[in-house]
Amino acid sequence: MNEQIAYIIDIQDIDLNIKKIEDAEAKNIYEINESAVSLKNQSEKLEELKKELSELQKKVNLCELNIESYNEKILKYTEAQKQIKTNKEYNAMQKSVKDNEALKSAEEEEIIKTMTAQEEIKSAIKTTEEDIRLLSDIILNKKAEVESDKIKYFDIKKNLTDKRNEIEKILKAEFLNVYEAIKNNNKFPAVISVNDNRACTGCFRILPPQQFNELLSGEIFMQCPICSRILYYKQEDMPEIINDKTDKKEKKDKTKASKKARVKA
Ligand SMILES: [Zn+2]
Repeated sequence: MNEQIAYIIDIQDIDLNIKKIEDAEAKNIYEINESAVSLKNQSEKLEELKKELSELQKKVNLCELNIESYNEKILKYTEAQKQIKTNKEYNAMQKSVKDNEALKSAEEEEIIKTMTAQEEIKSAIKTTEEDIRLLSDIILNKKAEVESDKIKYFDIKKNLTDKRNEIEKILKAEFLNVYEAIKNNNKFPAVISVNDNRACTGCFRILPPQQFNELLSGEIFMQCPICSRILYYKQEDMPEIINDKTDKKEKKDKTKASKKARVKA
């Protein structure tokens, strides 16, 4: 493979690693934001539930006041009955007592109904408070993770950037510019292999045999005529990410070994 292409691939490997780190960081931030939205919704829901509960309590209090007043009336009419002489008056009084007892019992039923509703709301409040606690924990843990990642990734990113800068020194500027332009055009990976079927593995366009032969010679800086990615051919599988120094050294050694037979690109 052309040495210059090998440098571009090294740069791309570094960029892929940086992108992986940045994606992981962005994912954590996204998850924190998502949880924060849920937390806000649950907090609003909790406020609503509490308001509802307090409204229901007001209703119970009112019913109790009403019962008290019906009790007073019942007592009053029952006392008054004792002083009454005629049957007609007695019956009228008796009716008033019964009416007030009916009203009182309706209020009592209302209290039971309202208290059942209160129990349901109390249970919903408990669930919502648990959700809020859970979400707060998630956010807290994620934020701690982001902070510790920041420190951890800082060194890794610096290392990768340093390595990239070193390679940039030995890579021809025009090739780097082509690579950056393709990458910025959202065609990443920008350097891509051509398989044994002569197809660009970026867009699967088949190269004409002569173009493929030129690529095999390793002497040519070639871009795909369709997707314009920088092309290379390598028989063995390319290691996707270079983590290991041995890997890189091996690759460079191979590049050096075939250097003699190559015309400079
Ligand atoms: Zn292509």
